[in-house]
Amino acid sequence: MTGHFDCIAIGGGSGGLAAARRAASHGARAAVIEGAALGGTCVNVGCVPKKVMWNAAHTLDAVHRAPDYGMAVRYHGLDWATLTQRRAAYIQRLNGIYARNLDNDGVTHIRGYARFVDANAVEVDGNRYTADHFVIATGGRPILPDVPGAELGIDSDGFFALREQPRRAAVVGAGYIAVELAGVLAGLGTETSLVVRRHAPLRDFDAVIQEGLQEALPQHGVDLVTHFTPARLERAGDGSLTLTAEDGRVVDGLDTVVWAVGRRANTASLGLEAAGVTTDGADQVPVDEWQQTNVPGIYSLGDVTGRVPLTPVAIATGRRLSDRLFGGQKDRRMDFDNVPTVVFSHPPIGTVGMTEDEARQQYGDAVTCFSTTFVAMDYALSDHKPRTRMKLVTVGDEQRVVGCHIMGIGADEMLQGFAVAVKMGATKRDFDETVAIHPTSAEEMVTMT
Ligand code: FAD
Ligand code: NDP
Repeated sequence: MTGHFDCIAIGGGSGGLAAARRAASHGARAAVIEGAALGGTCVNVGCVPKKVMWNAAHTLDAVHRAPDYGMAVRYHGLDWATLTQRRAAYIQRLNGIYARNLDNDGVTHIRGYARFVDANAVEVDGNRYTADHFVIATGGRPILPDVPGAELGIDSDGFFALREQPRRAAVVGAGYIAVELAGVLAGLGTETSLVVRRHAPLRDFDAVIQEGLQEALPQHGVDLVTHFTPARLERAGDGSLTLTAEDGRVVDGLDTVVWAVGRRANTASLGLEAAGVTTDGADQVPVDEWQQTNVPGIYSLGDVTGRVPLTPVAIATGRRLSDRLFGGQKDRRMDFDNVPTVVFSHPPIGTVGMTEDEARQQYGDAVTCFSTTFVAMDYALSDHKPRTRMKLVTVGDEQRVVGCHIMGIGADEMLQGFAVAVKMGATKRDFDETVAIHPTSAEEMVTMT
């Protein structure tokens, strides 16, 4: 089989699907090449199964809090198999919806893995396909650390393949994935340690979030182990796992170790050298502001470029690229500033724009911050009093809001609207002039002094 297309997206994840479908909507002959399940990381081993697990932990938290409201509830335990089977069925439904969407949009789905043969053609299982425009959207995959015994642990893909709930787990890493998976495990009743190399997880986040997280993790049942650089992982005589640090400390008695120490771009077997496309030291594909690689007609977007690796970013970038290439919108491109993001921790974290440190580095004394800490009304009748934290980072006499950081129950749903305000260049006065909604946590965002 052969074929020629206006646009071929390599990778049927968030970015590739978005680029191809938008290209087709502009009348282009478009194809997506995907060897695994449609939807990519997000749908199959990322956002979607993660959010199901987070929702499960959130639901269990509500069950535990029910007696505060005089409800006698007996919890009979979690049936891990039922939860994960229902999650798998949901994902399968999504895979079907993605396939139907391609059909409905007239996008050809080429099953298999692509390899460039030159700058104008790829090969998939011996078949050759050419295109005027290629979009490399091959995403990334989890990595294991280079320590003896690492293979005794699992990565985030392995987490979603677990058939039984771990009894005692260590999650190693300090990014989104480590924080989220540790929170989910602890929330569902697994004895969980979060093991970080330095003083804290999420070190790139605003100080208010880092402090909040360090307070919240133990409250949520996560044992935070800091300054622990893993040196080896071993199986003990009783079958349990022992994680040993460079300084000799151990975390032991584990049945599961989840490595969440970063991801690597999927370019190694793409044959990029045949097309002349260059990669950086991390296998990522560098692109300019128009998603153009160093080879004309070959573009790249999403996680494989290493730029703001989030699903909505990959989708928006893909759509904008196709609007530009096939929709006559010659200035359309992705704006990577002020991308809002949520870490699904317990409680969740929502953040958009600059941290206070970043703002001070750029604007010095022109920065003014407003913050508040309080116990959300959700816990009014509880003995447990987790604190919600909020911070607005503003710049200049007009106090333009350049950063917004929230950690607390509801932060995940709260942030989107505030992100619109930040993107529009709202000032603190705009926030103050907005009438509060009572009684909510969000009202504190417009009443901070
Ligand atoms: P991917 O979705 O990874 O898709 C790439 C696709 O390319 C894959 O399907 C792969 O099989 C295919 N492919 C690779 N090589 C080839 C080849 N040679 N030929 C054909 N196909 C190929 N983001 C959020 O915004 N919110 C979240 O809550 C969130 N949670 C996450 C949780 C986890 C555990 C993980 C791992 C990620 C999470 N992310 C989240 C990030 C999000 O999943 C990614 O940013 C997003 O999937 C990137 O989309 P993409 O299209 O760039 O790549
Ligand atoms: P990250 O690269 O963000 O985090 C991995 C961290 O692990 C590093 O920053 C490092 O932190 C630590 N680390 C690295 N090597 C080691 C090691 N050998 N031993 C111990 N710790 C180590 O990757 P993630 O995989 O967590 O996430 C990737 C991206 O996926 C995120 O940036 C995010 O964009 C996306 N994502 C988004 C989610 C969401 O939107 N909710 C959820 C999940 C992922 P340090 O230097 O501090 O030690």
